[in-house]
Amino acid sequence: MRALVSEQGAVRLDHHWPEPDPVGDQVLVRPTRLGVTPADLRAVRAGRFSGVLGSEFVGVVEKLGPDAAGQDHLLNKRVVGSPLIVCGECDLCQRGLSQHCRAGKVIGRDGADGCFAERFAIGVRQIAPVPDGVDDDAALFAGCVARAMHAARRVRIEGKPYVTVLGDTPLALIAAQIMTSLNGSVRCLGDRPAAYGLCEKWGVKHRHIREVGLRHDQDIVIDCADDRPEFGDLALGLVRPRGKIVLMSAGAGPKLDPHEIIEHEVEVYGVASGNPCEGLAELAKGALDVVSLISRRVRLVDGLSVLRAAAEAEQLKVVIDP
Ligand SMILES: [Zn+2]
Repeated sequence: MRALVSEQGAVRLDHHWPEPDPVGDQVLVRPTRLGVTPADLRAVRAGRFSGVLGSEFVGVVEKLGPDAAGQDHLLNKRVVGSPLIVCGECDLCQRGLSQHCRAGKVIGRDGADGCFAERFAIGVRQIAPVPDGVDDDAALFAGCVARAMHAARRVRIEGKPYVTVLGDTPLALIAAQIMTSLNGSVRCLGDRPAAYGLCEKWGVKHRHIREVGLRHDQDIVIDCADDRPEFGDLALGLVRPRGKIVLMSAGAGPKLDPHEIIEHEVEVYGVASGNPCEGLAELAKGALDVVSLISRRVRLVDGLSVLRAAAEAEQLKVVIDP
């Protein structure tokens, strides 16, 4: 079968990659949509990972592994999944904090094969069935929606706080919609023209990063930009004393001056991942517009150009139709 494979940073489309046979509690999935994430590009650039790339998918379960026998209801069902393989046994997994599993591994970048292939195997505990009302394009964003919801919960959006979202990545634009729905007074700061039109459509304010005054008046600043260390000064200039900064960047996060954090008693939160089931439930309500974020569609057979497309500055979300 075909698979997009990285070998220490050299990417190739392999036409004869062996189809995996699900072992243990794994299931075999045939992807119907694949999403290229900033983390995939970073994994290639870092050059340490060898194996099938990819961590974001919607697909159909075709086969169950020997220990997933009781999960017949999943056969032929559409699913999305968490890219994180957890052990289920360490102290953190036992305490319900499996997203911080001490033996956790991420598919497509951490020693485990990912989903950019015609078939892939994944643990049954990592997947969640997609409700009928959520189509494949929307379901692809379940993880991103879940993460933005998790961020909202961590900082507690109460009253009508002033919220600034930095970056105009898909995550930023989803976070802006979710914070607006929770009654935040939200604006998005970025520099990609494609994001302006979308924000206007949703009634979310959008400003160019160079047009904004640093007045220490924002209750919450959420960084969703990728590889923009210079956004550290921006975040600290925007947040009010005792305000909150949320870090969700996939790449090198903003560089925050500890002296400023101390002086203004700023609270800094890291938000890693949410529960895809929660993202699916939110998408099923139909209030979020995520499909507009898809800026380009490519095919798995396009090979390397899949990653080149995703690296183009003007692209919001590149989706692979396998
Ligand atoms: Zn664990």
